[in-house]
Amino acid sequence: MTDHVALLGTKGGPAIRTGSTNPTSNLLCLSGQRVVVDCGLGVTRGLVDQGMALKDLDQIVITHLHSDHYLELGPLLHTAWVAGLKTPVTVHGPEGLAEYWTHFLASMQNDIAIRIEDEGRPDLAGLVHFKVVDPTRGFTIGPLTVRAMATLHPPVTCYAYRFESAGKSVVFSGDTSYMPEMAAFAAGADLLIHEAMLGEALPALMARIGNGDDRLMHHWLRAHTLAADAARIAAAAGVKALALNHLIPSDDPAFGEAEWQASIAADWSGPFYLGHDGMRIPL
Ligand SMILES: [Zn+2]
Ligand SMILES: [Zn+2]
Repeated sequence: MTDHVALLGTKGGPAIRTGSTNPTSNLLCLSGQRVVVDCGLGVTRGLVDQGMALKDLDQIVITHLHSDHYLELGPLLHTAWVAGLKTPVTVHGPEGLAEYWTHFLASMQNDIAIRIEDEGRPDLAGLVHFKVVDPTRGFTIGPLTVRAMATLHPPVTCYAYRFESAGKSVVFSGDTSYMPEMAAFAAGADLLIHEAMLGEALPALMARIGNGDDRLMHHWLRAHTLAADAARIAAAAGVKALALNHLIPSDDPAFGEAEWQASIAADWSGPFYLGHDGMRIPL
């Protein structure tokens, strides 16, 4: 397994529409370790499409508890279980995931009990362990060292993560508004995967969604990062490559690759990946 990141879901926000991409999920493959980063809708299919056997799932890292980043966590774990999972899975993330899991198990309790009794499967509850991330300490996953930094994503606690091993480093910004501290956190990384929105496309998106008010626009502006600012972070950090994900918007034909490229051109001239579902980025 060569080192790479697969972007499984690349749109920002929880809604999907005909022709749209999926909400956020990623697969990091580094030093023989596979780590799922975020579990938005579509993560299970995305992993399988990358050739991963779900019974090999063992490490999951969640940035924050907005549904577009963890709605499919329970279904992923359950589907891995029916696909043959019998070894422990560790889920790292902010407070609240263990409670989500308790309620997910309760909602599926009939099915899970039947499969244990009728199919001889191990108890799903006992296979999954939760570790609350402490950004002052970081953590390790096998050979990987992981650092976490709280981002600016009000009103939710969200972490950016930096994974390092064998001289390679990858940073996921998580959801965040523009924060200059991200440049220091991502300094010298081989790859920065930063969330991004295209400012000039937001009014049209607002009109298409149709059921929000000014608060939705205010949320975008106060909790997310313009593509040009993400490019500025990448340049200040001196990263070797920049990828944009969590794209807002992701499915407006009036705003395609050319518009995104144009929005970063003044600030970033290095290797660039405009995320799409299934994109593999070598490390
Ligand atoms: Zn999000
Ligand atoms: Zn969010």
